[in-house]
Amino acid sequence: MRAVSFETFSYVGANGKLAGFHNSDPTRIPILMVEFPSYTGPPVTPGMASNGQSRWIPIAAVTMRCENKCCERTGLPIAIAKADSFHCMQGLTVGNDQPIHRLLSCWTTHGERLFPGIKYVGDSRVRELDNLAFVQPVSQQDLASVGRDKRWQRQLNEVRKIEAKAFRLREEMAAHGQGTKQDFAHLI
Ligand SMILES: [Zn+2]
Repeated sequence: MRAVSFETFSYVGANGKLAGFHNSDPTRIPILMVEFPSYTGPPVTPGMASNGQSRWIPIAAVTMRCENKCCERTGLPIAIAKADSFHCMQGLTVGNDQPIHRLLSCWTTHGERLFPGIKYVGDSRVRELDNLAFVQPVSQQDLASVGRDKRWQRQLNEVRKIEAKAFRLREEMAAHGQGTKQDFAHLI
């Protein structure tokens, strides 16, 4: 057994870390050893427990059949999972046809107060509502609080100031015949 990676994996809803794999017979799919930090059951062996591996669980390959029972596929029942902040997820799309299918959001009203608009950034990552779930319950009151905080209002005011400034500059330039369509025509 040797550690091959520190990628994070998810198994029956639990998240764990790939700790190693058994591959004594190269013609067969290896058994993965995954460490589940939240595991509270008995260790696989007393030896593993004394070796600091009491939360290591073997994950064996399973064979899945199609609905018509005419074909089958053998594989390891795991999926890649990753944890990230909403800020770092900007540009990522979560959906059935994407590498990441589901988003489990840890959004809170406290987070929204710190980072106004962060709920929109998080929720808008998913393609369908089915791709999104929340770790904590979200009440109507929580939702109503979005966009009502003082910090949010300050941010909105700042954005409006920048917009107005950009608009004024555009008008000034247009008054001097700059920035019109004709100015850019020779570039096409
Ligand atoms: Zn089939």
